[in-house]
Amino acid sequence: MKFYNISDPSEKAGLKKAVLTSLPKTPGLYMPESLPVMSSGFINNLGNIDQKEMAFELTKAMLGDDLPDNAIKEIIDSSVTFPVPLVQLGEKLFVLELFHGPTLAFKDVGARFMAALFEYLLRGENRETTILAATSGDTGSAVANAFYGRQGIKVLILYPSGRVSQIQEKMLTTVGGNVTAIEVDGNFDDCQRMVKEAFSDADLNSRMNLTSANSINFARLFPQTFYYFGAAGQLRRGEGQLSVSVPCGNYGNLTAGVIASRMGLEIRHFIASSNENNAVTDYLSTGYYEPKPTIPTITNAMDVGDPGNFPRLLRLFSDRHDEMTAQLKGYWYNDAQTLASIDELRSLYGYEADPHGAVAYLGIKEYLKKHDATGIFLETAHPLKFQAETGINPSEKGSMPENLKELFLLPKKAIKMAPLFSELKSLLH
Ligand SMILES: *Cc1c(COP(=O)(O)O)cnc(C)c1O
Repeated sequence: MKFYNISDPSEKAGLKKAVLTSLPKTPGLYMPESLPVMSSGFINNLGNIDQKEMAFELTKAMLGDDLPDNAIKEIIDSSVTFPVPLVQLGEKLFVLELFHGPTLAFKDVGARFMAALFEYLLRGENRETTILAATSGDTGSAVANAFYGRQGIKVLILYPSGRVSQIQEKMLTTVGGNVTAIEVDGNFDDCQRMVKEAFSDADLNSRMNLTSANSINFARLFPQTFYYFGAAGQLRRGEGQLSVSVPCGNYGNLTAGVIASRMGLEIRHFIASSNENNAVTDYLSTGYYEPKPTIPTITNAMDVGDPGNFPRLLRLFSDRHDEMTAQLKGYWYNDAQTLASIDELRSLYGYEADPHGAVAYLGIKEYLKKHDATGIFLETAHPLKFQAETGINPSEKGSMPENLKELFLLPKKAIKMAPLFSELKSLLH
């Protein structure tokens, strides 16, 4: 597969470069030059194959020119490791649970595939590769967990001291091995700035192989197509047209859904469900895109004022507003509406949702008032991960996942650091 930069199509890259560097040189994003279309035989058989087989066929179609079958199999075996069940709530209402991975959020899907692919692509390199990542919480825990034990790769995660949740901090600081957590005495922007300075430091880069595990890396986006196909496979036949509501932040999840539909999966509408960071839903209703400063909300994994994947999403619709609005609907909600919908899901369906999934529920509910379709909303985090917001008590819920219980017994290991690049540089020496 060849990739091109959507801001400068003359800039091209092969898989290895596109994935290991994350971003093209000029500001822009990598996109595959073409998207494979799956056979109707494959689509009609989705209900009869398991998720590893499904992931194998999709990866072979997308990256089969770059990766031999045994490499694809190895990558899938070590990354597609947890179920993504579709749960029925109402006659035409389903929730797809993406949170059964080791760090209890859907970021595990992308991070695990990326880690396995990095390990494969870096095999045979004579220098160790160091991944530097700044995190505000969810991404860092998924990346730390996914890269743990990967050969030839060291991982340094910078997180803002006192600004991640207790569960997130445990997930970041208890991994150990080839993963080092750095607790920065500053905010997320400080962490990001330190990482950026490291990437532009010539001396450092001449001495080490530095790479990022950026959230707009294509290797994180692509595996998120698997669960859209998986959801269709779990639906009974004859359930009519399918529409999917996605809780959006940086718009990777939704972009993956649209890629799945370009690869032959029939989805009538996608619903971009957003919090008050509504630059994209505003674009859908007005045709004007205006990035906005980020507003903090209780769905903090969706607090993105200028979503990084939006240009990719536009490209998938030929950069045309009318084409986009034909398949994409968008709605946004404030925190009070989100909290009320958690209660509503509990009382109507006995379903315990996290705030991000609750926003997606609001979106599908609003959509189904006007459209006759089978609706699926994506639940992107385990409700316990955001218990402060949902007000649930883990012992009440009675189902604290085993890995979470163990997590709380492990000691925190982190290197404390002032928000200065010079300190990061001397650590890297
Ligand atoms: C990252 C995240 C989102 C937003 O996903 P995008 O792909 O960035 O749009 C939603 N919910 C949770 C729990 C997340 O961690």
